[in-house]
Amino acid sequence: MSKRDYYEILGVGKTASADEIKKAYRKVAMQFHPDRNPGDKAAEEKFKEAAEAYEVLSDADKKAQYDRYGHAGVSGNGRGGFGGSGNMNMDDIFSQFGDIFGDDLFGSFFGGGGQRGGGRGGQRSRGVRGSNLRVKLKLTYEEIAKGVTKNIKVKKHVTCTSCSGSGAKDKGSVQSCGTCGGSGQVRRVQNTFLGQMQTVTTCPTCNGEGTTVTAKCGSCKGEGRVYGEETVSIDIPAGVQEGMQMNVSGRGNAGERGGMAGDLIILIEEEPHKELFREGLNVAYELHLSFTDAVFGTSVEVPTIDGRAKIKIPAGTQSGKIFRLKGKGFPAVNSYEKGDQLIQVSVWTPQQLSSEEKAILEKLNHSPNFKPHPEKGDKNFFDKLKELFS
Ligand SMILES: [Zn+2]
Ligand SMILES: [Zn+2]
Repeated sequence: MSKRDYYEILGVGKTASADEIKKAYRKVAMQFHPDRNPGDKAAEEKFKEAAEAYEVLSDADKKAQYDRYGHAGVSGNGRGGFGGSGNMNMDDIFSQFGDIFGDDLFGSFFGGGGQRGGGRGGQRSRGVRGSNLRVKLKLTYEEIAKGVTKNIKVKKHVTCTSCSGSGAKDKGSVQSCGTCGGSGQVRRVQNTFLGQMQTVTTCPTCNGEGTTVTAKCGSCKGEGRVYGEETVSIDIPAGVQEGMQMNVSGRGNAGERGGMAGDLIILIEEEPHKELFREGLNVAYELHLSFTDAVFGTSVEVPTIDGRAKIKIPAGTQSGKIFRLKGKGFPAVNSYEKGDQLIQVSVWTPQQLSSEEKAILEKLNHSPNFKPHPEKGDKNFFDKLKELFS
């Protein structure tokens, strides 16, 4: 099942501004709104598709992720996926509308009646949404190579257990709001040149919550949340890179008085490796060989991101020669592609010599085999650089 491009769904170009995206979404959402297309499954799918596209494109972090990695960058499984979108239900979508349409506009547009008259699915909005939280996560090359599950302790606002987030002292101290009768909305009938218009707005007394608290919870002072700690388990896919962000939906700060929790945004950092150096998907390693090993050839063990590997060094290996271990680099996050490990030989020149060693080398220095005579087939320095970074 291939997903349609988010920009295409909303009918905007990739350079569209936030405002243009919002306008485009408003148009599509109105066209396919279930109230206007009762029983039409295809319209409902289009409606959901548009909501998903807007959820991503209206969020600067997710949009950047999508622009860079496409759907794979944002289609998460909620737990440790990028973005965590793609599983919105109708209530999520309607709760989005508060920002897009404004209660007034939406209420009057759809007549203000019916089950979701207020554009919020007839649901009272509970509390205040918690803020997003950013944490840095350092990973070793080995962890990145295979993917890893990390349990990280996050200090944040968590739901108050004494009142289960309601902020009320007990059940008896939560009362239905007198102003709106518990609906969270107040209706107004206005006479306009188009005739009578009914508008619906959020109740000013309870801020749309439908209830008021007469006695506050002592543990959280009525906020419904307290400062605490939570251990969050995150599945990191193999191949992530420094600077990538992962969005764990609903694991940020708890909302106030039962409001939705914010998201937890994980910022990936790479821990430098003692011997290896990452360059995109490839891994570079500098192998120091003694002069005699380079001359006679040898077999050496080199570190890789997946344990150690044995390689054969043929006799007569030049300093600067690059060996390639195919597929021993990093995997790509969103494809089956894999990088290589590049091993560059660096022949060690002795810096201190005994008089005996000196005598031997001086003798050899006049031997014709010790005069450099590069062959035509040998790649020059610049070709090697090109190969190294390809
Ligand atoms: Zn409480
Ligand atoms: Zn009210």
